[in-house]
Amino acid sequence: MQNRKLLLFLMDGVGDRPIPELNNRTPLEAAKTPTMDKMAQMGITGQLHTIGRGVTPGSDTAHLALFGYNPFEVYTGRGPFEAAGTDLPVKPGDIAFRTNMATIKEGKIIDRRAGRISEGTQQIESALQNILIEDVEVIFKVGVDHRAALVLRGPGLTSTVTANDPKIENKEPTPIIATSSEGEKTARVLNQFIRTAADIMEGLEVNKERIEKNKLPANYLLVRGAGKAPHLERFQTKYGLTAECVAGGGLYKGVASICGMRINNEHKGTGGVPTDLPSKISAVMKSLERAQFAFLHVKGTDNMGHDNKPIQKMEFIDEIDIAIEPLLELLPETLICITGDHSTPCILRDHSSDPLPILMVGEGVRSDHVSEFGERPVMKGGLGHLMGLEVLPIMLGLAGQTTKFGS
Ligand code: ZN
Ligand code: ZN
Repeated sequence: MQNRKLLLFLMDGVGDRPIPELNNRTPLEAAKTPTMDKMAQMGITGQLHTIGRGVTPGSDTAHLALFGYNPFEVYTGRGPFEAAGTDLPVKPGDIAFRTNMATIKEGKIIDRRAGRISEGTQQIESALQNILIEDVEVIFKVGVDHRAALVLRGPGLTSTVTANDPKIENKEPTPIIATSSEGEKTARVLNQFIRTAADIMEGLEVNKERIEKNKLPANYLLVRGAGKAPHLERFQTKYGLTAECVAGGGLYKGVASICGMRINNEHKGTGGVPTDLPSKISAVMKSLERAQFAFLHVKGTDNMGHDNKPIQKMEFIDEIDIAIEPLLELLPETLICITGDHSTPCILRDHSSDPLPILMVGEGVRSDHVSEFGERPVMKGGLGHLMGLEVLPIMLGLAGQTTKFGS
């Protein structure tokens, strides 16, 4: 039983509701999933509430819970996770923000994404380095396209400040204000930095070129999602397992990295659709050669839910099932768990509190009578109803890696 490895495979937003176009089946129920069905048949299944019954999870909070960290205790905002996902070395206590490079004209935001700028953003990043405001160090890093991350590091900072993103165009940015008296310094420093950054960005060559080519300049920063980077016990210390993460999207890499997992980027996954599923599967199999725990994340299922595209969601699950076939080779030595982080029903175009199907398969698992992986088949499963925080302990227990409570 020693050195059993663990794989947690998560399809973001996979859960759904019955859809008339699919004969009142869900995309997962309607999809052709011989591999997942085989695993359900060999394993044990159930329904998962990642945060709690009746709670609609965000992706970040749901991932924290699945990794065994109580989001009600450690979560203060999405910013630190997004920032960590851009490879910015976030430290506990840092205040991080999700940031957009935007276009401002005559005081109004005319494009929140600066014409979806994709080239020349490194120049903006370089120009905004080594800025110190009062005694606060400002760290700015560009991500994909117009996205960026911003971190404030210094004494006396809190995440209790508002955003300046008006969320719609042709409006002035909203002033950043403190929502508690402790937040006043943070608001003051942030407002000052945004003014300084706007002055610097205005004069950059990349923006002059964009204006010449009739493109919108990236001359303003919109910030939101303030959060204080939590101090989390490292995954390896918490569970005694070395861990790696294979994901495309920055947020998921960010959560995993703040939990102390190594990020395996040796794949061509995109964090959306289209993606390269086979390269992610081979990457995660490599991760499992090195580490005792691996986390694999696929995002497209959530995107299809937000876009209300049930057929495409089903077809993407077909593709996932084909891609994961090699995982069968890891059985039964490896304990594999397949689930999602929340439901994203197409009809709602957003996350919901509906539970998710979950399966665990590997040596010694007491299989139940469920032979199909889907929202309704697993209602009869032997795991019953699980909470997110219970998933890792149950996986460890099944793999024979828990210590005895008592004697
Ligand atoms: Zn999600
Ligand atoms: Zn989502």
